[in-house]
Amino acid sequence: MYFEDLRLSEDILDALYDMKFEKCTPIQERCIPLILEGKDVVGIAQTGTGKTAAYLLPLMSILQNKPHDKDRVNCLIMAPTRELAQQIDQALQGFGYYTNISGVAIYGGNDGIRYEQERKSLQMGADIVIATPGRLLTHIDLGTLSLSGTTHLVLDEADRMLDMGFADDILKIVSHMPKDRQTVLFSATMPEKTAELAHAIMHNPQEVKI
Ligand code: AMP
Repeated sequence: MYFEDLRLSEDILDALYDMKFEKCTPIQERCIPLILEGKDVVGIAQTGTGKTAAYLLPLMSILQNKPHDKDRVNCLIMAPTRELAQQIDQALQGFGYYTNISGVAIYGGNDGIRYEQERKSLQMGADIVIATPGRLLTHIDLGTLSLSGTTHLVLDEADRMLDMGFADDILKIVSHMPKDRQTVLFSATMPEKTAELAHAIMHNPQEVKI
C-alpha cells in the first residue's frame, strides 16, 4: 500500500514524498488506519520495521486538525533511552517539515543546563513531548510540564522500559493524564508484565503483530 492511499494530511504526504517514502511497511499498513480512527493499538514489532512512522504519521495527521495551545501538550511519547527519544524527535522534525507541529524532547542527563533548556522549550509550547520516564516525572513534579490536556499517549519499546524498572514511573505519569485519551503501545515482545501494563492503561486495544 502507498502512503497516498491513506488518509494522512497533505502536508505530511508532501514531507514523505521529499523523504522518498512511498510504500508502507507491513506494520505501517496495519497500524496507520487504526490509529487514524482513534483506536488504542498494541503493536508488536522490532526496531527496523518502520514502527516510528507507524504511530507518528497518523498521530501527527490527527494533531494537525486540533487547535494548538501553547499551554497544552497534545501528545506524549515515552521511550526508554535518550538515544531513542532523540531518534523519534528527528523523525518528527522530518515528517513535520511542512506542518506547524512542534516537538520537544526531554531526556535529562544530570546537568542543570539541559534541564533549563528543556524548561524554556516547554514554556514556548509543544504539541508533542518525547520523553524518558524519569526526566518526565522531574518536570511534572517541578511544575514545568502539565499532562492534564494530553489526549494522545505512545509508549515506544514498552518491554524495554519495564525491564529498566520504569513500571511505577509510567503508571504515575499516566495518572496525570485524562482517562479519555488514545493510547498506543509498541513492544518487540509481549511478556506478561507488558500485557498487564497494556491492560491497565488501554481501552479495548487492537493488536497488530507482524
Ligand atoms: P524504525 O523501525 O521506525 O526505527 O525505522 C527504521 C528505518 O526505516 C528508519 O530509518 C526509517 O526512516 C525507515 N523507514 C520507515 N518506514 C519507511 C518506509 N515506508 N519507506 C522507507 N523507509 C522507511
